[in-house]
Order: sequence, then C-alpha cells, then structure tokens
Amino acid sequence: MLNDICEVKISFSFMKTKLISAVGSIALDWLELPNGVNGDTLGGSLTYFTRSAGVLAPVSVIGVIGSDFPEAGISLFKNYAKNIDDLQIKNGPSFRWGGKYHDNWEDRTTLYTELGVFETFSPEMSEINRKSPLIYLGNIHPAIQLDVINQIHSENTLIICDTMNLWINTTKKDLDKLLRSINVLLLNESEAQLLTGQETISDSAKAIHDIGPNDVIIKQGGSGATLFSKDHSFHAPVFPIDLLTDPTGAGDTFGGGLMAALSNDYSLSEGVIWGNAAASFCVEGFGLEGLKKMTLESFEERVEKIKTLL
Ligand code: AMP
Repeated sequence: MLNDICEVKISFSFMKTKLISAVGSIALDWLELPNGVNGDTLGGSLTYFTRSAGVLAPVSVIGVIGSDFPEAGISLFKNYAKNIDDLQIKNGPSFRWGGKYHDNWEDRTTLYTELGVFETFSPEMSEINRKSPLIYLGNIHPAIQLDVINQIHSENTLIICDTMNLWINTTKKDLDKLLRSINVLLLNESEAQLLTGQETISDSAKAIHDIGPNDVIIKQGGSGATLFSKDHSFHAPVFPIDLLTDPTGAGDTFGGGLMAALSNDYSLSEGVIWGNAAASFCVEGFGLEGLKKMTLESFEERVEKIKTLL
C-alpha cells in the first residue's frame, strides 16, 4: 500500500505563492474502520497536510522520522514538499498510532500511541522556516508547537494552529500559552466544546476570541466548516462524496487546503472552501489513498461545486 502513494511527481511552478512552513506528526498508523477494513498505512498530521497543500502551494516541512520509516513515505515528502531541510531522520522507531472508529464514524478510540523518535523531538528551524510568512502548527504536543513559534524571526508571520482533545485534556497550560501567540485556531466542534465548556459553536468561538486568536475555524465533519472572525462569520458546506471510506487525516488535509488558499493570497473564507474541497478527497479512500485523486484540476472542480452550494 505504501508504494502506491507517491505516484505523482509534481513540479514546483508556484509563481506568486507564499511559502508555508509546517510542523506536525509523521506516523505509521494502524486503522480499524466501521466497515470492517483494518490495516497499516502512512499517517500523521504533517503527512496529510503536505500531501494536500503540496499540490497547490510550496510547503517546507519541520518534523522527524525514525530509521524504520519506509522509503515510500520519504518519497511523499520529497515529491510534495518544496523544502525538507528540517525533516530530521533519527535513529530509533518512528511515531506509531493506532485508532479504531466507532460505528458513527466520528468518535474514535486511540488503541496505542508509541512516540518513538518524537519523544525527544526538538525542531531545529533553518533560516527559510524562521522567516516564513505562513506557519502551520499541525496537531502535535503544544510544547513543540510553542518551540516553533519561539524560533520565528519575522514579525509578520501568520500562525495557524490545529489541536486535538488529547492536548485539551492533558496539556491545558501549554495550550493556553499557545493560544495567546497564534492568529487562527483550527479545531473540530467537540474539541471547541471541550476547550471552552460552551454548547454552541458561536459561543465557543467567542470564548476562544477572548483567549487570543482573532479567527477561529470550527470543522463540523459532514456539515462543513465555519469561520468565526471577530466581526463576521462564514460557513461552507462539504463537497458531496459518494461513500465515506476513512475519515483519518481529514482535519489535517483541510488545514492543507486552507493554508494553500492563504499562500495564493486568498481570504480565510476562501480557505474554508479550499479546506473542505481538499478534505473531500481524503475521506474517499483508506489512509492517504483518496488523495491520489487530488490534482490541481480535480481540486478546482470541487471548489467550484462547493461555491454553487453556498
Ligand atoms: P485526524 O484524523 O485529522 O485527527 O488525523 C489523524 C492523524 O493524526 C493520524 O494519521 C495520526 O498518526 C495522527 N495522530 C494521532 N494522535 C496523535 C498525537 N497524539 N499527536 C500527533 N499526531 C497524532
């Protein structure tokens, strides 16, 4: 399965695009799905992000893999990232995560998390990433996300951050510090409720605005996603797919589409549409397989379709 993932070698002809520097996990996943499909696949927040954003914009990755990481996985980063100077390869096992979905396809139980080389990961950012105009903090321990922020050299960097319930439950102090240092927070509906204790997404967004970020994007699974800025909100529906096959990585793939829109100088609202369009490819296949269908042309078609549904 892994060998299949990197079929397309893309060429970088992003003329007026801004560089996106992204940090996150790079993993070997084990997935158990409600349709009875179980299996190994390449995963991690940075992997889904790079595969999605890399079709549309230049991505520079900050992450770590172990010495056991498969060649096909390394090829994905070589093919879809413009810069891999800050991709560390360390002696030891790669990060491994196992997840089992419940019958509703939304809730999932973590079967295991083996940190491996992530346990001692300390991002060392080269100048190109320190000066990047756009930083994406993919789902990873908030202390690592803060470490990346502390290495930024530019005052005009836009910082967009994703997180998950694990960090809201276990590292609230680091997370609160992080929230005061970022521009946009990306999270799903249940995480927003968990973080703020509010019932509705608009009340959650208000509470998050009060902590720090000017903009909050709440992902609502099959119902799309909503951007809450301080003075307006914008909702975009999902692209209608035929069959949900595997929701893993949809959030990170959404982040890739969103950041690519910003890299191309579009607004956050357009980014919500691009995020939904990108995520629709992800959920159509097991692991990263659905994203094989995501090309510039197929992506644009899905963006246009979503716009007809607004
Ligand atoms: P998503 O479905 O968008 O939440 O992303 C799933 C990906 O997140 C999987 O490929 C996992 O490898 C990765 N992941 C799961 N748990 C963690 C964690 N604690 N830290 C970083 N990445 C994780």
